[in-house]
Amino acid sequence: MNTVVIGLAALALVPQPEKLVEKTGKVPANTPIRYETVLGIPPEGYRLTVAEGGITVASSDAAGKFYAGKTLEQLRQKEGKNNFYPCVEIEDAPAYPWRGVHIDDCRHFFGKETVKKVLDLMAQHKLNRMHWHLTEDQGWRVDIPGYPELVKYGAVRSASPRHGTHPSKGSKECAADLDGTKYGPYYYTEADLKEIVAYAADRFITIVPEIELPGHVYAALSAYPEFACNPGNLKDRDPRLVWGIEKDVLCLGNDQAIKFMENVLDYICRIFPGEVVHIGGDECPQVRWKTCPKCQARVKEIGIKDETELQAWITRHFVKFLEARGKRVVGWDEYLLGDVPASAIGMSWRAGGGGAGHRFMTPEECVKNGHDMVMTPRTHCYLDYNQGLKEDPFQYIGGLVTLEKCYSLDPCAGIPAELRKHILGGQCNNWSEYTWNVYDLEWKMWPRTCALAEVFWLGDKKPDFADFKRRMAEHRRRLIAAKVNCAPLE
Ligand SMILES: [Zn+2]
Repeated sequence: MNTVVIGLAALALVPQPEKLVEKTGKVPANTPIRYETVLGIPPEGYRLTVAEGGITVASSDAAGKFYAGKTLEQLRQKEGKNNFYPCVEIEDAPAYPWRGVHIDDCRHFFGKETVKKVLDLMAQHKLNRMHWHLTEDQGWRVDIPGYPELVKYGAVRSASPRHGTHPSKGSKECAADLDGTKYGPYYYTEADLKEIVAYAADRFITIVPEIELPGHVYAALSAYPEFACNPGNLKDRDPRLVWGIEKDVLCLGNDQAIKFMENVLDYICRIFPGEVVHIGGDECPQVRWKTCPKCQARVKEIGIKDETELQAWITRHFVKFLEARGKRVVGWDEYLLGDVPASAIGMSWRAGGGGAGHRFMTPEECVKNGHDMVMTPRTHCYLDYNQGLKEDPFQYIGGLVTLEKCYSLDPCAGIPAELRKHILGGQCNNWSEYTWNVYDLEWKMWPRTCALAEVFWLGDKKPDFADFKRRMAEHRRRLIAAKVNCAPLE
């Protein structure tokens, strides 16, 4: 019998399987695999036995079979010219059904090849939802049939903030802090979108497309100023050139503006087969609505008391619109303010507090109102926040989210036991104001995404941080070998 003692390296799996029993022995990597369908195994779960008698994978679904394969990839060892697997018995299944990564292609555009690389890495870490932020104040990244001006104007901006500057709109310094360089046009065609949807599906990843409304629509308004309350503010036909929150939003008193969003979402429903569509709903200033005759006429017509109720009205409209097309709707936490159907999913980004002047819904309030929630608190899941490295060549938006902080996330924190069924899982968010390219993006994503992937996979069964860090040191070598610009662990 060929007995070997397998070193720690071989079993340094990320995410750690729920149950792993190390056995003595090893088998060649080309050993045929026997697949079995076993109905009692949970969705996406699997049982993997690597023994000298052979390799067996049991699962109840195709995703479980796929994830067993991903575990085998991590177990594979090289000895001279030969590859082998150490003998193990693994029983594994995810704690949460939503294990997400968000990519912001709007502030900076990454393009198809980078998105595919993200999807490959997500699959390796058993992450299954890519939340794709496709529209923003600073860029509109999807070509919509019937609206050619969207990419003509919305997908290109005349300048962007220079590295190291934080200009604000209208300030004296603003012009000096802009780089004067045309950015774009950058957008995805229908063929690109279909290619990426298929690429993701092959990896058991569902794409969750996000079309922001009624705020963060300035790039769309630059293409169609008539959909703003004050079209004259858009006479430059340029998306917003600086970061931050834009006051010009969709005019909710204009039926044509609402019809435009319906047509966009109708198209999105046809291109993206996933169950969920994201409609943003965050950071929508009400200042234009307060003085717009059309919006005020709408407030009177529907008999509501204020502009918060006006936003809830448009949310209800699009929840109904999308549910009629077989979709569920997700949005950022503040879109649940007001009378919004319980079927709407919330994405909680301010679980740790709203900040001065912000109104928002806590996750506890949301689940009590019957909403399912995806936890993305900026305190643990915002990877554009500084990671606290000794040396770091890249720029961040601010904040501090260390690797250890990511690992400490408990998506169910503060949620009463009987309401935890509403916590679908979590997601890391990669906002790109200060992220220019794939090197920058990967440095910020990895290894912190590994920590969050393990949290979403294991939930409260995760081991302590020291255990994760020991495995992560080995796993980082795999990422570097795969040409990922992974940051050091400290
Ligand atoms: Zn208006």
